[in-house]
Amino acid sequence: ARSSFRNSKRFFGTRMVPKQTQLFIGGEWVNSANGDTFETINPYTEEPITSVQRASVEDVDRAVDAARNAFDHGPWRRMSGTERGDLLFKLAELIKKNGEELAHLEALDNGKPITLAKIVDVSNSYLTYKYYAGFANKFVGDTISAPGDFHAYTRKEPVGVAAQIIPWNVPMLMQAWKLAPALAAGCTVVMKTAEQTPLSALRVGELIKEAGFPDGVVNILSGFGEDAGAHLVRHPGVDKVAFTGSTEVGLDIMRNSSTSGLKRVTLELGGKSPFIICEDANIEESIQQANFSLFFNSGQVCIAASRLFVHEKIYDEFAEKSAKLASKAVLGNGLDPNTTQGPQISKEQQNKIWGYIQKGKQEGASCLTGGEEYEGKGFFVKPTVFADVQDDMTIAKEEIFGPVMQILKFSDYEDVIKRANNTDYGLGAGVITNDIGRAFHLTNGLRAGTVFVNCYDIFDPTLPFGGYKNSGLGRENGLEGLENYLETKTVIMSRPEGSL
Ligand code: NAD
Repeated sequence: ARSSFRNSKRFFGTRMVPKQTQLFIGGEWVNSANGDTFETINPYTEEPITSVQRASVEDVDRAVDAARNAFDHGPWRRMSGTERGDLLFKLAELIKKNGEELAHLEALDNGKPITLAKIVDVSNSYLTYKYYAGFANKFVGDTISAPGDFHAYTRKEPVGVAAQIIPWNVPMLMQAWKLAPALAAGCTVVMKTAEQTPLSALRVGELIKEAGFPDGVVNILSGFGEDAGAHLVRHPGVDKVAFTGSTEVGLDIMRNSSTSGLKRVTLELGGKSPFIICEDANIEESIQQANFSLFFNSGQVCIAASRLFVHEKIYDEFAEKSAKLASKAVLGNGLDPNTTQGPQISKEQQNKIWGYIQKGKQEGASCLTGGEEYEGKGFFVKPTVFADVQDDMTIAKEEIFGPVMQILKFSDYEDVIKRANNTDYGLGAGVITNDIGRAFHLTNGLRAGTVFVNCYDIFDPTLPFGGYKNSGLGRENGLEGLENYLETKTVIMSRPEGSL
């Protein structure tokens, strides 16, 4: 039946209707308080997929109350780390079991190629839940030999209610990066998903219920930033805010979160990441790496290597072959396994990227491929490669968040470090070289939260991820990702005077 999304054997375009469209509050699926809904659009067909409930400020209040109640009075705080870990392991297994369906939802709602949705989004989400499941019973405090007649120790305690706001570019994985450490730590959560991509998160909400998490531990709201998101960030019932998205909104969140007390804040924001291809690099391999580092996910990646600094000795060959490779992308429906590049998320993004392409031409960069408007259905942008890009051009300074590659030339290694660092961002960077000394010199000189050497876009829950400067605050993944959700309590006990 058309409405039975989950049981369908037939793979689909837009006709299948995802089943879960409500808000997940206090363990129940409910409609929004004021009855508002919004349509989520398939970026390939430009048609609505379905309507979902739109969280109002009242729904945010309900969700925060549910999370607060689950934290303060529910069984969650009384559970052992082992029990919390077991629930997370269960959730990881349910993600794996339902991986095909989740990948479909992601391809449908976001437009990304289903093959990548499986190996990147679903697989990494599974690994993330599993990784933090293992942490849930392994973080411990210290015993401290305090001077005097005192015994002291520290306890690691959950921060409390976490508000989590995620973007549309990798919805399911961003949900995992936020939920898994929060739950391992023992926090409760209110998550607001991006208005462009609510669907996979709702399905994961169903799996959370199926796994048996206590009511109110996880609350999931589909909705918009200006009302639900802003209200959530300001809410006095929230102890911690975690956000991934644009730097502009990140700065707002920093300000707004402090209007009702001092919340803990972590931010994962934009970037304009440099990738330095040295003269000794294997050209063919570098071209492949550079292509992936920029065009992966239609360029909608915060760490996309959008400033390629290529040594002058190999520049011309690199640029020409990069353009050739870029032009081979297969644009199409994310649900088609042959597609390598899906549409951008929205008309708005498509227009914004087109604006940057025009700016690139106007400011004198050479467009080697692409650079024309896509005609036809779907929010596509033709893969575009600019050479002869200068540091002060708009396309070399601003985050484009689309399939537009900038190739810059360099000759001096000290100078290229300065140029690479000459940005307010500092999320990622990359280096390709076979010279170990050069690799150390460049990696240590680059001001970025992640530096890839002879690789790019390697993500794993074991690897801390986050930005320097305007690219963010704090790190997700790894032990640091867990610590974002923990407070340290120092307990000092007086012991009998002179005792051993
Ligand atoms: P955005 O930052 O506006 O949205 C991200 C999330 O924040 C969404 O869930 C949104 O609803 C929410 N939000 C928006 N305004 C809010 C507010 N005032 N208070 C609380 N929450 C709010 O990103 P966007 O508009 O979807 O995309 C714009 C640009 O952001 C892109 O072009 C890209 O450069 C960047 N971006 C970066 C990332 C990343 O991973 N770093 C992800 C998506 C977008």
